[in-house]
Amino acid sequence: MDKILSKNIKTVSKALLYGKFAPQDLVKSTLKQIDNTKDFNAFITITDKIARESAEKSSILYQNKKARSQLEGIPIAIKDNFCTKDVKTTCGSRMLEHFIPPYNATVCQRLFDAGAVLVGKTNLDEFAMGSGTVDSIFGVTKNLWGTSCNSTDFHIAGGSSGGSAVAVASGSCYGAFGSDTGGSTRNPASYCGLVGLKPTYGLISRLGLIPLVNSMDVPGILTRTVDDCVTLLNITAGPDPQDSTCVSKPFNKIRIPPAEQLSIKNLKIGVPKEYACEYLDDEVLETWKEVASLLENAGAIVTEVDMPHTELSIACYSILNQCEVASNMARYDGVQYGYRENEESSTEKLYAKSRSTGFNSVVKHRILTGNYFLLTRNYEKYFMKAMKLRRLIATDFDHAFEQVQMLLTPTTLTPAPLYSDFIKKSNSEQCSQQDYCTQPANMAGIPAVSIPIKLSRKKLPIGLQLLGRNFSEPTLLALGKFIENQVLFPHFVEKI
Ligand code: GLN
Repeated sequence: MDKILSKNIKTVSKALLYGKFAPQDLVKSTLKQIDNTKDFNAFITITDKIARESAEKSSILYQNKKARSQLEGIPIAIKDNFCTKDVKTTCGSRMLEHFIPPYNATVCQRLFDAGAVLVGKTNLDEFAMGSGTVDSIFGVTKNLWGTSCNSTDFHIAGGSSGGSAVAVASGSCYGAFGSDTGGSTRNPASYCGLVGLKPTYGLISRLGLIPLVNSMDVPGILTRTVDDCVTLLNITAGPDPQDSTCVSKPFNKIRIPPAEQLSIKNLKIGVPKEYACEYLDDEVLETWKEVASLLENAGAIVTEVDMPHTELSIACYSILNQCEVASNMARYDGVQYGYRENEESSTEKLYAKSRSTGFNSVVKHRILTGNYFLLTRNYEKYFMKAMKLRRLIATDFDHAFEQVQMLLTPTTLTPAPLYSDFIKKSNSEQCSQQDYCTQPANMAGIPAVSIPIKLSRKKLPIGLQLLGRNFSEPTLLALGKFIENQVLFPHFVEKI
């Protein structure tokens, strides 16, 4: 791998600014790295032509001293559920296999306006429903860590933004966008040794992010370092008049001081004991304790807090998820949108055939259960009850944040599982284990970030999660950077 691909955005952007190399060279190295690591299957579409053209443009702007931002000429990738104008956006599904959006998602538009270079659209579980990137019509995305990808078995990348995670971890780009509805950015970040941010709900526009659960979806950021994450957040966050659920208050750009200047003295950090559930892996528990005492030794005040409704969040999430899925997926009827079967005998048959071929079994299962929960006779029993529970989960956080400023938890209960073990379970079993620690934040809307800590004895990344009040990203990321600087996670797998 070309050394420049392993650097952070700030360093690369400076080198571009001083003309040490041109954006075109960077794109060339990036495309080569994408090709070298193609067996991991991170990308659905490689936008090489767009990348070369954008690099040309960036090059001229650098020559004229008119670079638009720190992202000018920087290669990035985007999960294939964000609309990209004139570039296929598939959601990993047959339903949208040939869909070419006529507009850019706000996130993409802001990145492009800042000079970022799109190198490709990344793989995901169909419509972002999953925790492994194992359910895409474009095949499974493999983790770089652990066994070699050519062996018959391998570790999963996590999901549903596994393609974006592997793209960043393999040095095929400097940062990537994923989406996070129940953990889809933090989960692959944890399995692949990356920083994965789920921002406060509404901080980054959802316009053009193909919806899974509108009330929980957020664009998520995957990078190798906290500083890179801040750079991408600063470019994309803030009001969007086209998304009514987006904050209306202007976003103040985050500036985090150099790590040596950060102090966490007297910062109150809570450790919710309910996250130490029965499936928590020993090494993850050990890592959690290690980091808690590291923070304590650095002057933070670490205390145990109660979050009594944590355990109920999986059931609550899955009911709400399926209800919103049932409604969201109704738009794909093969007439206005999506895959269309050759069926002319009746409109009903056309819908039925198109939808049963266009969606995979996970999506179909969620549509059916969601519609069941929403039946007049079931609505109170399931949907309304889950909504009440959602409030209680959010209240758990409110109470915790009366006592402490931040929470420290595992991100995932275990390091990345082996593919062969993972697929023995159904999608709902997969999600209920993989998302145990991540889903509560989506139901409360609060920000959370996964920080890579260390490698397990089997050389698999272990990440921990930090959670804070709404809009506490500046403190959350500063604490993340403090930890990052203490643990010095090894970013690259030797084999690439
Ligand atoms: N695993 C969860 C699900 O399948 C979360 C997915 C996500 O965050 N996009 O619903």
